[in-house]
Amino acid sequence: MAHLLRGMAAGGTLRVIAADTTDLVAEALGRHDAAMTAGAALGRTLTASLLLSHVLLKDHRDRVTVKIDGGGPLGGVIADAGLDGTVRGYARQPRVELPPRSDGKLDVGGAVGRDGHIEVIRSHAPYGDPYASSVELASGEIAEDVATFLARSEQIASAVLLGVSYDDAERADAAATRVRRAGGIILQALPGAEEAALTLLEANVRAFGQLTDALARQDLLQVMETLTWGLDFELLTQQPLPLAFHCRCSDEKALAAVAYLTPGERAEMVAQDGGAEVVCHWCGEARFVDGEAMATLSGHEVRCPDCGALWYREGVTTMVRDEERCACGRKVALTA
Ligand SMILES: [Zn+2]
Ligand SMILES: [Zn+2]
Repeated sequence: MAHLLRGMAAGGTLRVIAADTTDLVAEALGRHDAAMTAGAALGRTLTASLLLSHVLLKDHRDRVTVKIDGGGPLGGVIADAGLDGTVRGYARQPRVELPPRSDGKLDVGGAVGRDGHIEVIRSHAPYGDPYASSVELASGEIAEDVATFLARSEQIASAVLLGVSYDDAERADAAATRVRRAGGIILQALPGAEEAALTLLEANVRAFGQLTDALARQDLLQVMETLTWGLDFELLTQQPLPLAFHCRCSDEKALAAVAYLTPGERAEMVAQDGGAEVVCHWCGEARFVDGEAMATLSGHEVRCPDCGALWYREGVTTMVRDEERCACGRKVALTA
């Protein structure tokens, strides 16, 4: 079961947040039918967003969204997590596979690209505006990019380890069925951290090797203890916090997506296929909106005469305000 642990070291001046995300990364890669390289990028980003939620959020209803796009063939990867332990995410091109790097590792940086940004958005639902902050990518390998974000945007010196490993690295299909280990750790220096403690922590991290190798030998708690060796590690979470891949899509949201089609387009879909299939890009779940459900969208509607965009539908609270500009530039006029 995927889970997260939090701890402290060096008398409370070092913070340690660690997650074993093996099960949920396997589920996500299966839902998106991801290839190995793209799947590693997605798995690292899902894990990073869960760890970041424990760094950046306070309220259990808040969410943190991590968007990474470096202009590579992956076309961007995005994940959204909260303190409740739920996460969802996708890569725009989940089938991207690249030859391994010269050191034999998956070329995640090559798939993500290095020319772009990591953007982190905090949403305080249902109140307040989302707060977004972005920094330039360091390497596209994601762990280093998250560490750079924390240093530049949050002024927190951190070591970030993220990893996804596969059982049979020779075969390049069906990554999901072969996720061996996935996880991540953030180690942070808090105010008051002493130079000697940071030097020892750095040495521990350098000597540590690959996170997924360690997770194959040890459990998460032992990995945390290894990384904080000599620094008086203290576990703060009495019970491991369960983590899960979970999407917030619903039949109502699928219907709302179909509502943007014109009545003519909807009628054609009902005539041809009995309805429309809506696939959620976050989780890959396909929902079928049948003719009966579509019939509930029959209320009076106002559309842009130029581009056809839906401005208003009876029974739905104002979708676009009168006098506003349509996406095509035309001034919205709801009272014709
Ligand atoms: Zn979904
Ligand atoms: Zn328009």
